[in-house]
Amino acid sequence: MSRFFSTKFKNLTPYIPGEQPQDKKYIKLNTNESPYPPSPKVIEALSTTQCSKLNLYSDPTARVLVDKLAEYFLVKRENVFVGNGSDEVLAFAFYAFCDGDTGMSFPDITYGFYPVYCNMFNIGYEKIKLNDDFSINTADYLGSSKNNVTIANPNAQTGVYLDITEIEKIVAYSKDRVVIIDEAYIDFGGVSAVSLTQKYDNLIVIGTFSKSRSLAGGRIGYAVANETLIADLNTMKYSFNPYNLNRLSIVAAAAAVSDVGYFKNITHSIIKSRNYLEQGLIRRGFTMPKSYANFILAKSDKMNGGELYKNLRDKGILVRYFSDERISSYVRITVGSREQIDALLMAIDEIFAKLK
Ligand code: PMP
Repeated sequence: MSRFFSTKFKNLTPYIPGEQPQDKKYIKLNTNESPYPPSPKVIEALSTTQCSKLNLYSDPTARVLVDKLAEYFLVKRENVFVGNGSDEVLAFAFYAFCDGDTGMSFPDITYGFYPVYCNMFNIGYEKIKLNDDFSINTADYLGSSKNNVTIANPNAQTGVYLDITEIEKIVAYSKDRVVIIDEAYIDFGGVSAVSLTQKYDNLIVIGTFSKSRSLAGGRIGYAVANETLIADLNTMKYSFNPYNLNRLSIVAAAAAVSDVGYFKNITHSIIKSRNYLEQGLIRRGFTMPKSYANFILAKSDKMNGGELYKNLRDKGILVRYFSDERISSYVRITVGSREQIDALLMAIDEIFAKLK
């Protein structure tokens, strides 16, 4: 820390993204990226004239993308906000709707960025304990707390899904606070809460192009909500970085939304591969909560999470390990291609064989 760093940040612990090592070629099953390339329509759109226009700023309203998303979600363009990854959209939302009096509540096991935003923006937060099976107890979110609420659905790290009727109960009960539903993984089997944004003015649904749209490197996220909430997010954006999406990402994302066929194909394939991975792990004695995401959080009695992570890393396979006490016996495995899954399962067999 330099002597110039503001004292207000001296205790800030930044988020640690999943490793992206460059020392050798790994099978990357640690950051929930898509094993598939972006849609051919994305590649085609990028290869036309866009690069020659990079001397010009991007459209700060990202109109072509906002309109495509509005059409896709059957809402008005005033109901859509786009950002530089859903991380940025989440950051704007936390900053906009919370303060010293209104904190944020979220599950004790969830996306690790939520407490980081709270610390960065000086927002008080409460972690609400998940049930032992990692499910959310809706009643826990219906108390008297003034806090806003953020729920990742399906939940990060666990893949556990909360039915939309339960989400609606929380939103309906929380009329005077904002409820953020982070749907980074919704396209892998869940029902989106976007339709509820037409009925409730306190609900923000946030999504990403990083998973089901195969565009993690493009850094594109979005929010769908009542137009007054979207206007507030725009106030945040225009007070921070009006050109938050670059020219190439706007074009790429708009093309990705247009290619409904490709999107359906790859999400369907990932769901099939998730079942294949699940069965392979179960056959090897692993247990796991049922995943509705593009990853599986799994544990084996034979080896704790940290050790399995290290052993797999030595074999060139990256998975994610979390030291949080409640999930430290698990590893989180991204659903990769069939070949990647087979390589993972073979590596697990070799690692376990050595234990005998
Ligand atoms: N929300 C959740 C639950 C996530 O797991 C992630 C990805 N790590 C994000 C948001 C951020 O995604 P991105 O910034 O790539 O859109």
